[in-house]
Amino acid sequence: MSYENWKSANKVCVIGAGTMGAGIAAHLANIGFDVTLLDLTKESVQTAFDRAKAVKPSHFYVPETANKIRLGSISENLDWVSEADWVCEAIVEKLDLKRELFSKIEPLLSESAMISTNTSGLQISLLSEGRSESFQRRFLGTHFFNPPRYLKLLELIPTNVTDLKAVEAFASFLEERCARRVVIAKDTPGFIANRFGMWSMFHAVHVAEKLGLSIEAVDAICGPFLGRPRSGAFRLNDIVGLDIMQDIATNLQTRCSDDPHMDTLNTPRSMATLMERGHIGSKSSAGYYRREGKEFLVLDLGTLVYRQPYDITIPSLKEHARKPLGERIRCALESKDEAGEFLRNHLISTLKYADFLKEEIAHSIQDFDRVMKWGFAWEMGPFELIDAIGPGVLGLSDQPYYSATDQRNFEGTFVQLAPQPQYATIQDFPVIESNDGFNVRDLGDGVKAISLTTKMGTITPEVVGGVSAFLDKPGNECIVLTSEAKNYSVGFDLAFFEQAISESNWQAIDDALLALQNLTIRLGSVKSVAAVYGYCLGAGMELAMGCTQVCSHPESNIGLPEAKVGLIPGGAGTALLAQRTQAAGAKKIVDVCMAISTGFVSANAEDSKRAGILRETDVTCFHPDRLIQTAKSLALFATPSNPPIWLQPIGPIAGMIDTAQEELRLKGGFTSHDELIADNVKHVFTKSNSFESALLEERVAFLTLCKTGLTLARIRHMLENGKPLKN
Ligand code: NAD
Repeated sequence: MSYENWKSANKVCVIGAGTMGAGIAAHLANIGFDVTLLDLTKESVQTAFDRAKAVKPSHFYVPETANKIRLGSISENLDWVSEADWVCEAIVEKLDLKRELFSKIEPLLSESAMISTNTSGLQISLLSEGRSESFQRRFLGTHFFNPPRYLKLLELIPTNVTDLKAVEAFASFLEERCARRVVIAKDTPGFIANRFGMWSMFHAVHVAEKLGLSIEAVDAICGPFLGRPRSGAFRLNDIVGLDIMQDIATNLQTRCSDDPHMDTLNTPRSMATLMERGHIGSKSSAGYYRREGKEFLVLDLGTLVYRQPYDITIPSLKEHARKPLGERIRCALESKDEAGEFLRNHLISTLKYADFLKEEIAHSIQDFDRVMKWGFAWEMGPFELIDAIGPGVLGLSDQPYYSATDQRNFEGTFVQLAPQPQYATIQDFPVIESNDGFNVRDLGDGVKAISLTTKMGTITPEVVGGVSAFLDKPGNECIVLTSEAKNYSVGFDLAFFEQAISESNWQAIDDALLALQNLTIRLGSVKSVAAVYGYCLGAGMELAMGCTQVCSHPESNIGLPEAKVGLIPGGAGTALLAQRTQAAGAKKIVDVCMAISTGFVSANAEDSKRAGILRETDVTCFHPDRLIQTAKSLALFATPSNPPIWLQPIGPIAGMIDTAQEELRLKGGFTSHDELIADNVKHVFTKSNSFESALLEERVAFLTLCKTGLTLARIRHMLENGKPLKN
């Protein structure tokens, strides 16, 4: 059979509308698939889906997507599976029920449909037993992680009879079309993530109990210090759910009787007590931590009673925090404080267990590392960590697992790591120019990246001047605008405005705005794509808007929050949004005007489109790891579109804006200064008669607001506290 048509698969039928099924259905609908979701009955699918719609954080980028999912029941609509290009099973974790379902759907399936199960603990080969050869050859485990919107790892598990070509085609479909990073795992209990990850989670609890350490101390050690998320060890247990941890552990103990390390999966004393009390973690609002009103209490592992958390200071954590990961752990391992004691007992055993398991559960050490990085957000996987700490220090091996280009296979020889240019990050490209506040990197094929190097991608007058000069040079006509910071850009340097206002240096402000406006407009005259992620705010957003296209990471927070600091966008942002919404009808114009007036910031990239602050032609790059390559491909084919065409809006826009403002006033919290800001935005939207006049109006408005004491107070408050002031 050829699997060629899997590339263009578009209709997915997810069966089982529980935690996973609804999450998978939502994720696939979010990124554009035509999704059907089935559960046992009409009532059960509706109840389960209503619950899924209320989940926080939301499964959906925008709530309307939920309406695109077709709901149905096994009892009445099972024949719908015949329309599906992919049937993704996610019903309860019961072997007999899953097998019964597969026997029922087999005669209905299209001959070329992909079929997968989302089991986390059952043997995949047992699930397809008794099915036809055609079914078995295209049947795989697709182990998604919860919640699928946020966790990109997918363990793909073929059986001995799955066609190798089907595995290849499925993996490629999941990476190319479903925004997943795929690791092909062996059909062993718990695959890689649960077998090793769960063991490591249980081990941390046992060690904390044995050493009499507090939960706060262990979470402080196991968070960013260890290159792991802030949830550390115990918060993570609460997030996963103690009941789920227990189910996975029991299943592993039953199925892995040959593994001499299974005692670690015995239920720790604290976990048993919590479960007896029904305190199974975040979903029951109590677990190792408990929220009581405004208080966040923690379980005392000695008394098993909740108490106020201690303020923890562990000297070695402080002392070594700034060292590179491997070195800081090496130093901490030698320390005499709690961190040293905990890591010697926990981390060394965990890394040794990874070494013990590797060949049984993974095809390579890189696969093993990737599972922990992509599924558990570890900065380094266990084998990378062993190399970084020094294998000798841990008594594991005197040879590293990796060289710059190779990994060690299970026979001990080095084999080349496959290059994956599609996942390159900005740092992977060579710097060809280093300037004040930005690097120029060569992305290849004639595309250059202007990559901000300021803190949080702050835009300064120097950056504006430098980038403008760069664009003036020949050969710089195809660019990607991005950043090297954790966020693309938090906007213009507020300290600059604070100083200029304090000195009444209005000319400096106007010069800075004019230069920023010119750069924003200039960007649209070359092939330019902004690759944005994290925060894309204020002047950073204005520059992105100026580019011929914006390519956003799906979880970006995008907006023009100038109103929060008493200003309006003055780097062409107000004028561009006024111009871009002119043809969209009065309601949209008013909505966008009010979005600027209230300093709206979107919850994600799709939300920015819905709010009208990104264009329909802007692109959400749903694959979280492909932003730079996608932006580069878009830049190659971008069409410069300047100058913007001005259409005078028709209709009673000003009156409608007044009504919208009045509604805010009635709701409360809309101060007279907010009103002044909103009136200035309204003025640009309704009183300008050309794009040039809109640019002038927004600068005039910006300066008018700078001259008010309330704006200066807002700016100072933001600089001092990182939070907006309502005045
Ligand atoms: P769940 O209990 O939340 O949901 C199961 C759903 O399946 C329910 O809505 C139930 O009504 C429905 N169902 C039961 N029998 C059915 C049948 N015969 N036909 C149709 N629907 C049926 O379970 P879940 O947590 O979503 O887990 C589903 C699968 O995903 C399990 O195999 C589980 O091991 C796996 N998994 C779960 C997680 C997780 O974090 N929850 C993670 C990865 C994999």
